[in-house]
Amino acid sequence: CGVFGLYSPEPADLAWLTYLGLFALQHRGQEAAGMCVSDGERFHVDKDLGLVTQVFDERRLDGLRLPNARVSIGHVRYSTTGSNLRFNSQPLTTRTNKGILGLAHNGNFVNAREVRNGMLMEGALFQTTNDSEVMLNLIARESHMDLVEATASAMKELKGGYACVLMSRTQLLGFRDPHGVRPLVIGQRPGADGHVGAWVLASEPCALYAVGARLVRDVQPGELVWMDRDGMHSLMVEPKRPTPCSFEWIYFARSDGALDGVDIHESRIRMGEQLAREKPVEADIVVPVPDSGIGAAIGYARQSGIPFDYGLYKNPYAGRTFIAPTQEARELKVKMKLSPTSAVRGRRVILVDDSIVRGTTSRQIVNLLRDAGATEVHFRVSSPPITHPCFYGIDTAARKELVASTHSVEEIRELIGADTLAFISERGLRQAIGGQGLCGACFTGEYPAGTPLLNDVDKLA
Ligand code: 5GP
Ligand code: SF4
Ligand code: MG
Repeated sequence: CGVFGLYSPEPADLAWLTYLGLFALQHRGQEAAGMCVSDGERFHVDKDLGLVTQVFDERRLDGLRLPNARVSIGHVRYSTTGSNLRFNSQPLTTRTNKGILGLAHNGNFVNAREVRNGMLMEGALFQTTNDSEVMLNLIARESHMDLVEATASAMKELKGGYACVLMSRTQLLGFRDPHGVRPLVIGQRPGADGHVGAWVLASEPCALYAVGARLVRDVQPGELVWMDRDGMHSLMVEPKRPTPCSFEWIYFARSDGALDGVDIHESRIRMGEQLAREKPVEADIVVPVPDSGIGAAIGYARQSGIPFDYGLYKNPYAGRTFIAPTQEARELKVKMKLSPTSAVRGRRVILVDDSIVRGTTSRQIVNLLRDAGATEVHFRVSSPPITHPCFYGIDTAARKELVASTHSVEEIRELIGADTLAFISERGLRQAIGGQGLCGACFTGEYPAGTPLLNDVDKLA
């Protein structure tokens, strides 16, 4: 998912700015979009299934516009827990003794089920199957605390990988789990003649730039920040060893930015270079699977000296295939999205992609290239084999669907029909990304932010 938030000391068209921010984050979730806007008194919410541009037409944006708007949050959804239903879309809102609150979250709480069950026993009510409602109820429950204290207390109770934005009528809050598994960045817009500009929170820097803000810094692992009339404030609630999700660099994040100080595009090029060093092969051209394989293919070509070429055309109107919820839908989408160019005819092709999850897309693509006359197809992958499910918000599917959890590399090669198949090593990946620490649980099975006790156990099976 993608989250976005604004606090503006001066009145601004926050509905429109939030729309722009969400549009920039569309790649993080295509199932639903929503936002809340407040002017200190009124609190407007609108959300629905669909893309940002589908949900928010002019009429619906007008319904969210407040002349004196000060605070807003937004969300684009990619369902992991809670099914693809309208009542599960975000932001989620609730009335509390701290006034009305809106919450948008990215990630998963691994102990949400236990916390929810505990609260049900105490008489709490839940309206959705969404994890965020547990967070919101925890905050609401601490009626003797102010919003910042209550949020800090909820952060201590919930485990997992998450990044959230939360708003009241007068405050914007943002927080990141103790390990910083999911990303969140802080930005600021320039203020009009000497005034303080609006504060912005977003999953990725691209959404800051979309609203004319500059990157101030990343929210730190375990940090809670809040913005109000007096500016920006910060509280380190529960910092632990930072292990941001390596998949943000491999695949998820847009390439026009940096997270935790590491540039996304450059890191993908380094992954490709590393892959070429580790798994060289003789061939005529290096072809990326667009878009997610482009950075690594550039790196592979650079390091190997084999020319990069566009062997696959991607229909620019097609979205991300993995977001399609069923296998059939994903296969149809590959056909709608990719077709081979003449570059591959009569050539030995090194095909570079960011990951193999189920293996089905990869098989289709290898077939496409062979049908188009490629004489050899050597598949190179810029992430290690994905053998374990993600419990922190990336939908890499249940364990039994992960082809690498049940097949050896040689078996996968045969399944996808490639001449050779090789993955980057885990060490090589860590080197290519750099930084302090990384979550690589889907490659190693070592989960830095814990695993679920009760829910999702079938995912592990
Ligand atoms: P596969 O061959 O495993 O079906 O698909 C691999 C390709 O699809 C890669 O290009 C990857 O970017 C994308 N992909 C497909 N499904 C998923 C998914 O569930 N999660 C992620 N992160 N990427 C996926
Ligand atoms: Fe990212 Fe994998 Fe960790 Fe999930 S398990 S947070 S996808 S590195
Ligand atoms: Mg891809």
